[in-house]
Amino acid sequence: MSKPIVAIVGRPNVGKSTLFNVLANERISIVEDIPGVTRDRLYATSEWLDREFVIIDTGGIEIANTDKIAVSIREQAQIAIREADVILFVCDARTGITDEDAEVAKLLRKSKKPIILAVNKADSFKQEMEIFEFYNLGLGEPIPISATNHLGLGDMLDSVMDKVQQTVPQLNDEDEDEIKVALIGRPNVGKSSIFNALVGEERSIVSDQAGTTRDAIDTPVVKDGQRYLFIDTAGMRRKGKIEELIEKYSIVRSLRAVDRSDVVLMVIDAVDGVTEQDKKIVGYAHEAGKGIILVVNKWDLYKKDTGSTLRYTEELRKELVFLQYAPVVYVSAVTMQRIHRLPEVIKYVAEQNAMRISTSVINQIIEDACAINPPPTDKGRQLKIYFVTQVKIKPPTFVLFVNNPEIMHFSYQRYLENKLREAFGFEGTPIQMIIRAKN
Ligand code: GDP
Ligand code: GDP
Repeated sequence: MSKPIVAIVGRPNVGKSTLFNVLANERISIVEDIPGVTRDRLYATSEWLDREFVIIDTGGIEIANTDKIAVSIREQAQIAIREADVILFVCDARTGITDEDAEVAKLLRKSKKPIILAVNKADSFKQEMEIFEFYNLGLGEPIPISATNHLGLGDMLDSVMDKVQQTVPQLNDEDEDEIKVALIGRPNVGKSSIFNALVGEERSIVSDQAGTTRDAIDTPVVKDGQRYLFIDTAGMRRKGKIEELIEKYSIVRSLRAVDRSDVVLMVIDAVDGVTEQDKKIVGYAHEAGKGIILVVNKWDLYKKDTGSTLRYTEELRKELVFLQYAPVVYVSAVTMQRIHRLPEVIKYVAEQNAMRISTSVINQIIEDACAINPPPTDKGRQLKIYFVTQVKIKPPTFVLFVNNPEIMHFSYQRYLENKLREAFGFEGTPIQMIIRAKN
């Protein structure tokens, strides 16, 4: 199911990232805290009234070649206008309306996108009165909030969800037998070349299924009896000038593609390596529990000697610490080297991501693991793991019932995860562990 995207827009210092963190926080704490992923994040999944949505802090999107604040806010607003379902425009009650606010408001008004105007730093009743001037922006009713004091957030989210309900249908395009694949990565790493190489001659088999709700530009492919659906992302098709401009926005589009996918191909240019932006997007895929394959493309251009792939893989593992489980495939879309291997790796990873293990077998593995390396102790109490069960697939999710969740240590959880991986593989998929007190 595709989650609606809510983009936070506003000038620096109005409190966007504070608000983002408040909205993201509850959810983030459930997911394991992985260094390098949770820090400095752009995206997070949040929930209100049982509906999940993705929030983006556009202030965190790197806009190339500009030091001018006004330019970057305008660009961020344009990204939001293009890609988000609802825009959350944040202003500052203490400064009142600034020229930059007015300029962004003008852009937003023209866009016809649903907009919620939140006036932040309304920490007290006095400031709440001052928000009336914000009607002048012509964006409807300003909602007073205080991100730091957690005031007004419920009303604000109600308004956001109202707009979401009006604009985004709850799609359900689940088809169990079809593997949905998203190609992500920076512009020019070779996504469209790989896509064309993979899809090329298979085009004729493409069938149009009537009555299914999906983007017309997704491409179904059948290979060795397995159906795949390649989800469209920016840069997958041959480009003209306009598409090149839009490439900048590809991270937001990638995010949406990741949400809808089962398996993500993170395409890396062999010569350029991994960038910060790459880490953020693939970190999102990791948290979303998707199968992940690292595809190092343009391998034909890389100066190789013996052991090159080993060393390259080692470097990748250092850069992407949280992705130790992801297989690495070295390809060239130009010479077609190993391109034909991708479908089987995709299929394999999708199976791993959807693997279900019987309760008795899991408990045996955990018991053995605890015998080899006893659970941690804290203040004289030892952690006891009573029972483990798998509650979900995609990603495999385990609930561990213990005497006291606080004694569970991150490193011990990692140890158990490794034991599960040794026993069952789970190659290419994140694993989630939920620690619960049994009473
Ligand atoms: P951003 O640049 O828009 O992301 O803004 P930040 O989230 O970094 O916040 C800028 C400053 O405003 C920080 O010092 C925050 O602590 C402060 N701030 C954020 N929200 C509030 C609020 O609701 N009330 C008050 N008084 N300060 C806030
Ligand atoms: P995208 O923006 O990620 O979709 O990248 P493209 O597929 O458009 O590729 C960008 C450029 O890299 C094009 O000029 C391609 O011909 C070139 N390219 C793509 N894959 C390879 C490869 O494996 N080897 C070499 N040498 N060039 C490649």
